[in-house]
Amino acid sequence: MLETIEQKIRALRAELRQHNYNYYVLDQATISDYEFDLKLKTLEKLETENPQFFDVNSPTQRVGGFVTKNFNTVVHKSRMYSLANSYSFDDLKEWENRIAKVIEAKVLYTCELKYDGASINLVYQNGQLVRAETRGDGVQGDEITANVRTIKSIPLVINQNFTDEFEIRGEIIIPLDGFNKMNEERLESGEDAYSNPRNTASGSLKLQDSAEVAKRPLDCLFYQVIGSKLPVDTHFKALELAKKAGFKIPNTLKICKNIDEVFEFINVWDKKRHELPYETDGVVIKVNSLQQQEELGFTAKIPRWAIAYKFQAEQVLTVLKEISYQVGRTGAITPVANLEPVQLAGTIVKRASLHNADQIAKFDIRVGDTVFVEKGGEIIPKIVGVDLKKRPKNSLPTAYITHCPDCHTKLIRTEGDAKHFCPNEYGCPPQITGRIQHFISRKAMNIDGMGAETVELLFKNGLILNYADLYDLKASQIIPLERMAEKSAENIIKGIEASKQMPFEKVLFALGIRFVGETVAKKLAKHYKNIDNLMCASYENLTNVDEIGEVIAKSIIDFFNDLSNIQIINKFKYLGLQLELTQKSREHETEKLIGLTFVVSGVFEKFDRNGLKKSIEDNGGKISSSISKNTNYIIAGDNMGPSKQEKALSLGVPIITEDDYLKMIE
Ligand code: AMP
Ligand code: ZN
Repeated sequence: MLETIEQKIRALRAELRQHNYNYYVLDQATISDYEFDLKLKTLEKLETENPQFFDVNSPTQRVGGFVTKNFNTVVHKSRMYSLANSYSFDDLKEWENRIAKVIEAKVLYTCELKYDGASINLVYQNGQLVRAETRGDGVQGDEITANVRTIKSIPLVINQNFTDEFEIRGEIIIPLDGFNKMNEERLESGEDAYSNPRNTASGSLKLQDSAEVAKRPLDCLFYQVIGSKLPVDTHFKALELAKKAGFKIPNTLKICKNIDEVFEFINVWDKKRHELPYETDGVVIKVNSLQQQEELGFTAKIPRWAIAYKFQAEQVLTVLKEISYQVGRTGAITPVANLEPVQLAGTIVKRASLHNADQIAKFDIRVGDTVFVEKGGEIIPKIVGVDLKKRPKNSLPTAYITHCPDCHTKLIRTEGDAKHFCPNEYGCPPQITGRIQHFISRKAMNIDGMGAETVELLFKNGLILNYADLYDLKASQIIPLERMAEKSAENIIKGIEASKQMPFEKVLFALGIRFVGETVAKKLAKHYKNIDNLMCASYENLTNVDEIGEVIAKSIIDFFNDLSNIQIINKFKYLGLQLELTQKSREHETEKLIGLTFVVSGVFEKFDRNGLKKSIEDNGGKISSSISKNTNYIIAGDNMGPSKQEKALSLGVPIITEDDYLKMIE
């Protein structure tokens, strides 16, 4: 029997939905990303050719693109309550007593982790997501459906329609892995790191462009189903049902027969929470029976049938010895707290980030203060308060610096920027060396034989003032410097010379244009093909390129409006750096490996390592430095490390030889 187009579209959607679920909810993909992409492209094509079958809940709509200027306010069908907090087992016993006064029968409890993100209410009708709402003030919130549709672990259409209409509540979070990766990328492109996953998650939900939201590593963990005709009588069963329908419900959920079992659950997770892939700040305990929940009811703000137990954040007290100020390569100033070293969550902490002037003012942090230091999801610990009782009598409020600590230029702070900046771009030593250090770094020009200290040394001795000066260096100038020998000087010169062969997109990234990270640089190189096209591109032209927004476009225009940058580019042209996509590199380019991620390990015969990596990228593949469940293949040469082999085995990632690889790209 011949399938109609509509049947074909339906079947593809169902299949892709299932794969989405396997990947994002179960964490067990059954096809490669490559196959997934092919199917998605097929569906996209069918949908474009047959617009009468458009469906907002199609898997193709996950990429977003819908822009909301103002979010509509919606009144929640049932109120979104907050939770009573408790901080001790005594508090919980009191809660149990209060319940016993209302309910005579036996009470069972459920324990769940308290996910730390932004709450969301989703409305489903006839098995389809129709609306997503923020909590707002509990009575009414913002409608953010377009943004929520892009979160891949949220089902747009459910497997099992257990009632015609229901609401489900959950917490939108950013898992730590994704958060750290996103921050690394931001730092690389000269942007500030986000300070914590929770704020970033809730901020992401309110972005106007849903295509931007789609790029954020958002996830959603669910904790409550509401519906008048639910075919269940307990909270636990409701969540089980939701799980079957395709919602992500962590399996940490547990039924406890009495309050002692609740205490046990808390004790276990107080320790184990550090192993979780996301942040949690406590446990939520709920009365399991829906009938009993109804009997207990609500106060004005909170349900009487649930309570949150807050874990003590890992916090220590220590003395703030000094505030120092760092100047980044973009001129951004970051205040840093230098602390009396102290043990915290398994590491010795000596420094904590103070973020910016507002942060210092907010807590009135002063040198000599005894401060509370906490470790959350962030890489660097933070100061969360001051023990005022311990404040020295003669202490003075912190006067934030007004001038650059390195070049003494008056700092500026533009509206909307949290940070102060040193505007002395070409005269401020840490900005000068920072840009050169970025230029030589591994992901940029990858200049062998040079490190951050070498740059400082060369700069201090007046040999380089910008990255173009590197190409004028002679071994005879380097040899006389501290800790330098003939051999190391020669290596430096060789490394610099070799960098002239670095492909265009690396050069583009190395230039250090603010907001132009690795990915953007690749995009630009592919689109504009050579530096002249890019330099001539207008603002409108730039913003028309996929993924290039206003901020990036403006930054690129500013960069090329600067005469000294033009001089550098001209010098690069003269020196023979790669300022265009070479014919050769384009000839080899295919899309055979799109969607596949490779890890390269060991020594190879037919390729050198960088050559192999380049070949993977040229064919559309991605390279990762460590093996994870997202790795599709490991290409192993001689001497592949045993720990990598073990990891590959345990995750079931196939290990292939370079010959296998060559066959793949044939
Ligand atoms: P609070 O914001 O401190 O009043 O705490 C209430 C919020 O905790 C709710 O609005 C939810 O967004 C959030 N929450 C996180 N995990 C859970 C959970 N397992 N059960 C209920 N609420 C949760
Ligand atoms: Zn400065």
